[in-house]
Amino acid sequence: MQTRLLATDPKPALDEAVAAAVDLLHAGQPVALPTETVYGLAAVATDPDAVRRVFEAKERPSHDPLIVHVNSRAMLDQVADIPPELESIVATLTGQFWPGALTLVLPKSSAIPDQVTAGLPTVAVRRSAHPVFARVIKSLDQPLAAPSANRFGRISPTSARAVLAELEGRIPLVLDGGACAEGVESTIVKPAPPDKPGGKPVLHILRAGPVTPDDLKRFGKLNWTATAPKPRRPHAHPLDPVPPTVVEAPGMLDAHYSPVTPLRLLASPGEFQPQPDRRYALLSFRGDPDDGYLDLAEFEETVVLSPGSGKLPEAAVRFYFLLRHLDDLGVDEIIAEPIPERGVGIALQDRLRRAAAGHHRPATDPS
Ligand code: AMP
Ligand code: MG
Repeated sequence: MQTRLLATDPKPALDEAVAAAVDLLHAGQPVALPTETVYGLAAVATDPDAVRRVFEAKERPSHDPLIVHVNSRAMLDQVADIPPELESIVATLTGQFWPGALTLVLPKSSAIPDQVTAGLPTVAVRRSAHPVFARVIKSLDQPLAAPSANRFGRISPTSARAVLAELEGRIPLVLDGGACAEGVESTIVKPAPPDKPGGKPVLHILRAGPVTPDDLKRFGKLNWTATAPKPRRPHAHPLDPVPPTVVEAPGMLDAHYSPVTPLRLLASPGEFQPQPDRRYALLSFRGDPDDGYLDLAEFEETVVLSPGSGKLPEAAVRFYFLLRHLDDLGVDEIIAEPIPERGVGIALQDRLRRAAAGHHRPATDPS
């Protein structure tokens, strides 16, 4: 299959691109679209055949559910059956954060096929703020299932080029909406009623993202158990299958968001002893020699997430772009500095941990 790439500016190009996307979506085909987090691979969420094509193109296992995008309260009610006890917190969170980078996990309606939710009784729903995505869903006027437009377990795409690197030849169309403004996947929250009379609603954070705990804490009691780093079973291999019941949000899989090149996340510079015959690249946070990482080895290449200032939103925008660049160098190992765990840095450090868990150990490694 040939994959077309269409520009979305100036305006006549946008109109043409949106029309082409809507035609393909109507015909049950998947189309890659920009969102403010990462590029999504969209298909009509109520069409099981279209949804199957998304799983096939991504090589995504059927136990990993998709996020459904809506663009109105009426469409939210079409895909989710919101119980009265969640009505108020859902209205608050959608009023505050939609359109935006917050995904809500809610009881699903019968309009959503079981394939979309991997058989779960819940559906993950979001409303994207990206103008191109918003145009497409408005013109289509149907909910869109749209997980990230990468092959399963790999680095999420934050540009149209990155989508092509992942899915060229597997999907008919990519709309080029430029670089993604947030740069990491949405925050996933499952709201629940208060756990004691008169208490605040409970917000289970299933995946850290651009909407931060500081943003959310005014609206409920935060619960992290689902994403907190779990102690590993002794001798567990990072790629041991995770029983499906444990996978409440598959972004929680220990091994996910991975470059092909092995990635090692350091806790401190002293932890790293380079081996003379191996080639390394460094993913630095600020690029500041005082942090102690730059001189650890003859790095083949050093890239800096937020040069100088250490601004976390800047690091987020550059994160997957730079990780993909390092992955393409063909070094033996990517060494990553830790990222401060505040704001969106919580999501970045979480993705680095999963990337570090996500590669096969070399065959020669006897451990
Ligand atoms: P992706 O957009 O590729 O990151 O994939 C969508 C993500 O949404 C998955 O990794 C899941 O973590 C999450 N997700 C989708 N549906 C549900 C659900 N019903 N309950 C919890 N998490 C979900
Ligand atoms: Mg994904």
